[in-house]
Amino acid sequence: MWRVIRPDSLRVWKDPEVVRRLARYRAIIDNERLAKYLIAKKFAFGGDLSLPTPSLWDLHTESSSGFEDFIARVDANEIDISEVANPPRNLLDLKIELANRILADCHFCERRCGADRTKDEKGWCKLGAESRVSSAFLHTGEEAPLVPSGTIFFSSCCFGCVFCQNADISTNPNSGHVVSPEGLAAVAAGLHRDGALNINYVGGDPIPNTHTILESLFYQTSNVTQLWNSNLYCSEETMSLLTDVFDVWLPDFKYGNNECAERLSGVKDYFDIVSRNHLLAYNSGEVIIRHLVMPNHIECCTIPILEWVAEKIPHCIVNIMGQYRPEHRARSERDKFPDIARRVSLEEMQLARAKTDELGICWRPVD
Ligand code: SF4
Repeated sequence: MWRVIRPDSLRVWKDPEVVRRLARYRAIIDNERLAKYLIAKKFAFGGDLSLPTPSLWDLHTESSSGFEDFIARVDANEIDISEVANPPRNLLDLKIELANRILADCHFCERRCGADRTKDEKGWCKLGAESRVSSAFLHTGEEAPLVPSGTIFFSSCCFGCVFCQNADISTNPNSGHVVSPEGLAAVAAGLHRDGALNINYVGGDPIPNTHTILESLFYQTSNVTQLWNSNLYCSEETMSLLTDVFDVWLPDFKYGNNECAERLSGVKDYFDIVSRNHLLAYNSGEVIIRHLVMPNHIECCTIPILEWVAEKIPHCIVNIMGQYRPEHRARSERDKFPDIARRVSLEEMQLARAKTDELGICWRPVD
């Protein structure tokens, strides 16, 4: 299992697989590399932010592809970022503008409600323009390489999981306190000052709060890893805004097919969307996948997910999680969800782990 390490100990980094798969993240911790959002602030965007949305997206696609090369040259020490002047407009400015345009016809997630949240219309997640944070703290229970993690829990979610383990936060859009982009940046700075190895945006889910999070990066200045901890049901547009500025991805991969997802989380086309987004994340950063093993879902979910991971994104790390328990509606309406009305068995966990080993997936970097 993952081992929680003391903040002053980094024994986990003696594992060569962790070093190999999270090399850039580790280099940011050691101040040998820069978090991507800091580099994005130095990458000039020459266009006019008042252009129509399709033109801005064209410019974003063009800038994004140039940015990939820019990061590679910064990482290779061919460009000394401290000698690059701050451009009048940068790639992050463009992303913030596009995020605010998405907010006016909301399609941050693939529910694509189309609510004008700038006018406080509410979509499925019941959030308007404001973001709320229910708690923020140094988390010592995350995966070992991430600890201590500067975890920020946002209220509400774009999923409706009947077994939600955080229902008090995810089903209540009014929980917590309203946070401005500047306020969020101050929270992140405080967490980093207290020793966080990363800023970990979670919830609920961070997706409906993409506009606030991107704008907070305008105010953030610390060289600290930005980590997206999410169900990853983002729209393709949201993914393209995030991939240039997030360093590490901590996505859930819950279901191996669309039907289980529709019945248990109320979302359509899950596998198609989430596998697409895992691939986008993998091609842009370092990935630790969380797979929560569910009772009676080994054949339909666990195995197809592991087979997909082994084939498509083999150099990620997978955390096979055994802590499922029937919560929320899975507990109060057991008759409706008999398949998930119990904990996962030892035999099911053994099957999941044996399959992971058989496929050569790195799932347990620390024994
Ligand atoms: S984030 Fe998703 S669920 Fe919420 S309003 Fe936007 S599209 Fe709808």
